[in-house]
Amino acid sequence: MASKGKILVIDDDHVMRSFASEALGLAGYEVETAQDGREGLQKAAAFVPDLVICDLMMPGLHGYEVCQRLRDKGRKNLHILVTSSKSFETDIAAAKKAGADAYMVKPYTAAALYAQVSSLVTGPARNGAADADSDDRDTMTVHAHEDATIKTKAELKRTEVMVRFWGTRGSSPAPGPDTVRYGGNTACVEVRVGDLLFIIDCGTGIRELGLSLLREFGDRPIEGHILIGHTHWDHIQGFPFFTPLYIKRNKFNIYSVRGSSKSLERVFRGQMAADYFPVPLANLASEIQFIELEGPVHVGPVQVSYHYLNHPGVAIGFRIEAFGKSVCYVSDHESFTRLGGESEINKRQDDAVVEFAKDADILIMEAQYTEEEYKVKKGWGHSTFDDAVSRSIAAKAKHMVLFHHDPAHTDEVMDNLLDYCRERIRKSGSALQCSAAREKVSITL
Ligand SMILES: [Zn+2]
Ligand SMILES: [Zn+2]
Repeated sequence: MASKGKILVIDDDHVMRSFASEALGLAGYEVETAQDGREGLQKAAAFVPDLVICDLMMPGLHGYEVCQRLRDKGRKNLHILVTSSKSFETDIAAAKKAGADAYMVKPYTAAALYAQVSSLVTGPARNGAADADSDDRDTMTVHAHEDATIKTKAELKRTEVMVRFWGTRGSSPAPGPDTVRYGGNTACVEVRVGDLLFIIDCGTGIRELGLSLLREFGDRPIEGHILIGHTHWDHIQGFPFFTPLYIKRNKFNIYSVRGSSKSLERVFRGQMAADYFPVPLANLASEIQFIELEGPVHVGPVQVSYHYLNHPGVAIGFRIEAFGKSVCYVSDHESFTRLGGESEINKRQDDAVVEFAKDADILIMEAQYTEEEYKVKKGWGHSTFDDAVSRSIAAKAKHMVLFHHDPAHTDEVMDNLLDYCRERIRKSGSALQCSAAREKVSITL
């Protein structure tokens, strides 16, 4: 029997990869597989498929970038089907913008796959480049591959790890008399590993961190490593107000994965465009390098790894490890099974997040909604307190710090929610320590 067409399946989940390739093989297609984006691009060039079935959240290159690169190559008559456990409308739209012809939420049945594949393969192909802003393969952007090592001049004199919260709020700043104790600034966490400075996210809290650093360093240069979980406003809006960026002697590396349609640098440039801010990114005097991650990086003796989270658009959590100590940051994230149902693939995705946070000494865990609030905010990409507690217990973390407080949760509400979480932990018999992030409060390991 002649082949009905050539299909390349790119997916890091081996169960879904085997399922799709066996089902399509039985249906008479010639099938090739790849387990990550980079291998997928290589095989696409060699195998010349009629259809690429591509996952989104993969180590190395994510699926949006694979789609863009496939489209940028300008190959005619190529169809792309994106499949993902993410079911947010934002991702469906972003995948299509990146070049996908169709999108299927996992899990799917063999019958649904046959129907989708046969309509794509027999239908007209979309030709030409992605709609994405693919003109911005920036010169300043460095791609950090697996185990890249970033050289640092800082010498570690101590092996202490310190975490300090500068912004604890999610979604929108919420200053005022009702949020004095837990804080009103949006996401920003300082992590010191010996003399190395890491900053996770640039919400409005980073403004005061900047002032604190200037007081501490005086005339000495500041070198910092800024990790961006995702580029929603509450995680980047403080960036232009981080004063050390305006001083020539300072140096910052900004790390994240590439956006769904733009480079990391372009997203930052966008928020400082003339319509939004008086000073353009290019005018910042400090030395700034944008680093798009494709795997864990080492900064001196520190390993920073990341994991994809279930949030609209591209979002990652971080794990910082050094001297046998670990700090894990999981914000913003909605349980796959809570949102998409108890399928095997969703359970594996939830388990992978738990595995990422395994045994963390400090687990900064987003918890935004009560169970009652979640009923109307399901699908917004955030966790409930119950989910955060269960996930942290399963990860056997030592200390969970509730983070990304809802703007509507006053100090009094937060006190009650913290009690609620502690009570749940106590009843479970777990030894997990639990606190809620407060501005300017630090924890030292
Ligand atoms: Zn957020
Ligand atoms: Zn967000």
